Amino acid sequence: MIKFLDLHKVNARFEAEFKNQFQQFLDSGYYILGKGVSTFETNYANYCGTKHCIGVSNGFDALVLIFKGYIALELLKKGDEVIVPANTFIASVLAILEAGLVPVFVEPDVDTFNINPSEIEQHVSTKTKAILVVHLYGQLAEMEAIQTIANSHNLLLIEDAAQAHGAENIKGKRAGDLGDSAAFSFYPAKNLGALGDGGAITTNNEALATIIKQLRNYGTVSKYENERLGVNNRLDEIQALFLDVKLKQLDTDNTRRQTIAKGYLKGIVNDKITLPFYDDSNNHVFHQFVVLVEDRTAFIDYLKKEGVEASIHYPIAPHKQKALQQYNNLKLPITEHIHKHCVSLPISPVLSLNDATNIVNVINDF
Ligand SMILES: *Cc1c(COP(=O)(O)O)cnc(C)c1O
Repeated sequence: MIKFLDLHKVNARFEAEFKNQFQQFLDSGYYILGKGVSTFETNYANYCGTKHCIGVSNGFDALVLIFKGYIALELLKKGDEVIVPANTFIASVLAILEAGLVPVFVEPDVDTFNINPSEIEQHVSTKTKAILVVHLYGQLAEMEAIQTIANSHNLLLIEDAAQAHGAENIKGKRAGDLGDSAAFSFYPAKNLGALGDGGAITTNNEALATIIKQLRNYGTVSKYENERLGVNNRLDEIQALFLDVKLKQLDTDNTRRQTIAKGYLKGIVNDKITLPFYDDSNNHVFHQFVVLVEDRTAFIDYLKKEGVEASIHYPIAPHKQKALQQYNNLKLPITEHIHKHCVSLPISPVLSLNDATNIVNVINDF
């Protein structure tokens, strides 16, 4: 069986370095917000090209802290509307709601799966104060067009970069540095994944960075002095140490994902399979390789029978979830079409090229 994602194999590559880091960590006797977190923050800010990086507990908390930070800066207030792609992982939407803001769903482009810039403008109201873009499956959203819209309506532009670590535009600017602020997740399956939960915020805005640093640690400005109603959303020290080890491998891993994707795009020739759009640049780091298939169940069953494990990202659109009942009546046909027909093929830095070729052959015989 070719696994959808072999996480053990992904991390086994770093075993010796992890053990070394763990031993030093154990010996240090210092376990919260230590040198591991601050070193990783510096290195990840440098990697993204931003002035600031704040390590936090997970990707969801990173998004919520960005919104709370802007609320503290009085750039947002409860009840403000935030434009969000309808086609996303539900965490993007839940974070908006958690901060007391109102999500406004916008349809994607069916070829890139990302928010359609020409659909954004007609959803901007007097209450709209921000756009949360998602670089879905690892492909950058159309940031130039979206930035123009944000500028003309004076909207904050926030990136949900949880799937796009290392994605780069043609000018060499990376995800995390393409808007006013960005949220990353280091959930184990992401392109840069911890061995547990983790997340980060990147920004060039010093005031925002300062507030988020306080908020993640009970609103503390100095020991036992609390200026704001904060929370405990700290990045764990041991996860920061592991992440710093893996960061050095991220570009190589992303290149490997692109190589596999190029093989799929060139090799898969089957009328029943609609392949994703890719312009051959570094603007896509293939967190997922997602195809559309009319009869998804038959396709996944067939793959399984042939020894290939596939997955679905995601089977139910956020606005169709029971938890979001107030949005169940929205009509978002492109989003619903994608959620009904999408299938994710195996792609990871440890998928062998031989297995990838076998997957192509199996799919062409479907
Ligand atoms: C993974 C993910 C998140 C949430 O990250 P967690 O670390 O699991 O909280 C948010 N948005 C998107 C698009 C994601 O893929």
